[in-house]
Amino acid sequence: MAGKTSDLLFRRVALIGIGLIGSSLSHVIRRDGLAEHIAVAARSQQTLDKAMELGLADSATLDAGQAVADADLIVLCAPLGAYAGIAAAIGPALKPGAIVSDVGSVKEAVIRDVGPHLPAGVHLVPAHPVAGTEHSGPEAGFPELFQGRWCILTPTAGTDALAIDRVKMLWERAGMLIEMMDAKHHDQVLALTSHLPHLIAYTIVGTATDLEEHLQQEVIKYSAGGFRDFTRIAASDPVMWRDVFLNNREAVLEMLGRFSEDLTAVQRAIRRGEGDTLHEIFSRARELRRGVIAAKQA
Ligand code: NAP
Repeated sequence: MAGKTSDLLFRRVALIGIGLIGSSLSHVIRRDGLAEHIAVAARSQQTLDKAMELGLADSATLDAGQAVADADLIVLCAPLGAYAGIAAAIGPALKPGAIVSDVGSVKEAVIRDVGPHLPAGVHLVPAHPVAGTEHSGPEAGFPELFQGRWCILTPTAGTDALAIDRVKMLWERAGMLIEMMDAKHHDQVLALTSHLPHLIAYTIVGTATDLEEHLQQEVIKYSAGGFRDFTRIAASDPVMWRDVFLNNREAVLEMLGRFSEDLTAVQRAIRRGEGDTLHEIFSRARELRRGVIAAKQA
């Protein structure tokens, strides 16, 4: 499906994985006419059929190698644990000058797992659009998902500047603000801002599911007291999050260690009845929330 020639960023784009993020990106490419052809690959025929039905793809195949043939831009939109296998499959089919990018929530792992499979003359520009919902699959996507959020690019030194610019332009068209970062730094920052909150949500909801039956009913009934916000986060895709923790082990364990220390401090303050300490901790947290709102990331 062609857009206006002036809007075209790429002739042929291949999306490997067409869940929440892949389908949202496809909607943006369609809306703004950024590519002539969107080729999609996924694991199951069912997902491909749905993608075709929703108009997210011009061609769909179970064979990632076939999807990337002749593509100018390839974006991996699958869970991180699938990256190495996908990269091995597409490597031989990539054309010289092609740009390989991704949307994964961890970035050092991309350079480790994808980089070695790319032939000379193909550019790797890892990216992380920091936007999401707890929903998954091709029906979950919508073009406004990325609007006003940050997209972090983590190319290694020496990556072709024009290739970086093209990926940057794509995410700018999606309405994103762009930040460049070293992959390791990205993984440390996201360990605290995204990975740890998901871990806490999964754990607290897990604690509730382990409660005795009669208490569990109460948890659901009175969840508006705060618990329901954790259940929303903990409804996120388990495969995606398993892969995030397996691929950002070091940074997550470091942040988890700091969190446990702070939790112990709060625990002690409650036990000792130290109201001033609790008040100070909660007031500092409230200040940070004001900063998030001011930065329009609420
Ligand atoms: P999703 O909705 O669960 O979709 C995953 C897609 O990947 C599906 O189309 C799936 O196909 C496909 N897939 C899985 N294994 C594959 C393989 N081996 N080869 C080809 N396709 C494969 O996931 P998502 O939420 O869009 O997440 C995708 C990526 O975005 C992840 O790396 C995640 O870290 C990153 N991310 C997610 C969020 C978020 O909030 N969800 C935010 C930012 C970044 P089938 O349906 O056929 O299995």
